[in-house]
Amino acid sequence: MNCPVCKEPMLVLELDKIEIDHCINCGGIWLDNGELELLLETKEERNRLKDLFKEAESVKERSYSCPICGKRMSKVFVGEEKKIIIDKCKKNHGLWFDQGELQKVVEIDTGNSNSKIIKLLNQMFENKLSSNNDGGNK
Ligand SMILES: [Zn+2]
Ligand SMILES: [Zn+2]
Repeated sequence: MNCPVCKEPMLVLELDKIEIDHCINCGGIWLDNGELELLLETKEERNRLKDLFKEAESVKERSYSCPICGKRMSKVFVGEEKKIIIDKCKKNHGLWFDQGELQKVVEIDTGNSNSKIIKLLNQMFENKLSSNNDGGNK
C-alpha cells in the first residue's frame, strides 16, 4: 500500500498483534477499518471513540486519497477541542493519522498518556529515530 501523502510504499509494522501501515517518509500511520478499535483495551474506550469523531465540514488542510480505493478522504475532528484532524475514507476502508496523531487520539480517548498502546507507539518510533543516528540506545 502506498502512503496517501508521499505516495511511497509503506512499511507494515506489527503493533500488539495488529498490522499497521507506516510511512517512514512522513511518519504517518494508516489503520484499516476496525484496527483502531482493536488497539483499545476496553469496551468503554471503544464506545467513547464514536463520540469523539466528528465529521468536519470545511477544513483548510489538504485532503488525501484513500490508499485502498483512491477516493478523496473526508476530514474528521477528534475530541472537543477540534485540534486534531484525521482523514477517513468515505467508504470506510480506514483512517489516516499524520505523525504523532494516533498517540494523541488514543490519549484523548483513554484519558491516559501511559496506556499500553501509547507506550508501544512511542517505543516503536523512538527505536526508529535512534537507529538513524547510531548509538542512541539508552
Ligand atoms: Zn508518507
Ligand atoms: Zn477507501
